[in-house]
Amino acid sequence: MTTSEEHQRIQRIALQRLESLQRAGVLQLPKAAVIEESVAPPVQEIEVDSPQIAKEPVLPTTKSTAKKMPEKKVPTKSRLSKCKKELALIQDEVAGCTLCGELVENRTQTVFGVGNPQARLCFFGEAPGADEDRQGEPFVGRAGKLLDDIISKGMGLTRDEIYILNVLKCRPPGNRNPAPDEVTNCRQFFERQLETIQPEFICCLGAIAAQTLLETTTPVGKLRGQIHDYKGISVVVTYHPAYLLRNPAAKKETWKDIRILLDAMDLPIPGNS
Ligand code: SF4
Repeated sequence: MTTSEEHQRIQRIALQRLESLQRAGVLQLPKAAVIEESVAPPVQEIEVDSPQIAKEPVLPTTKSTAKKMPEKKVPTKSRLSKCKKELALIQDEVAGCTLCGELVENRTQTVFGVGNPQARLCFFGEAPGADEDRQGEPFVGRAGKLLDDIISKGMGLTRDEIYILNVLKCRPPGNRNPAPDEVTNCRQFFERQLETIQPEFICCLGAIAAQTLLETTTPVGKLRGQIHDYKGISVVVTYHPAYLLRNPAAKKETWKDIRILLDAMDLPIPGNS
């Protein structure tokens, strides 16, 4: 990476950080707060009213110091345009894909992915449900509403800042789990989406997404609480919003996972100033 590219990368991260602070209500920063990070109170000591996430303890992470980070993207207009073109190309291929016979017969349309083509963070889910199949967009039903809350209330971000995609691009009939051969068929598409977007972070939603991405059979409960690596991208695992709707008690565990993600992304906890 050239010095100029490195400067642009640092500028982009600084801008995102400032925007996040602004969303959190911080309109002015004293110089010392920026330079002398050691004077900032530890996260556990910060008083907040809401959301619940801020009151949960931080779990230890197993962030590897030897982790290889991907080459950082440069936020230029030409790169954005290249990303959009590449994603549109993959989307066209997905729309015409007939690899999974049963899914093709039952789908209304393919559900590709949505969001910022240069997002720092991608949310990675399992497969479209009935609402997504109807509307052609991932996470638009009740589970989507909960994901919106996680993104906005839990992280202080918007859908425009992140990217959302699924393992499968077609709805499995009756919302059954994706079959192994369907996952194998569709892997090429999500891998190319991620290669194009080059996120720094991926948040896997549920067991299918996590186990597919990390190519493991370890249960989601054991994958949580640490930072994994996928081709140099930091990966956090949490429960699928549809599971949280059925098991609201698990929401507090998801907030812990989101705290890990915020910490890794160096983003402030919404509501803290
Ligand atoms: S799920 Fe993926 S691989 Fe299967 S038909 Fe749909 S787009 Fe093709």
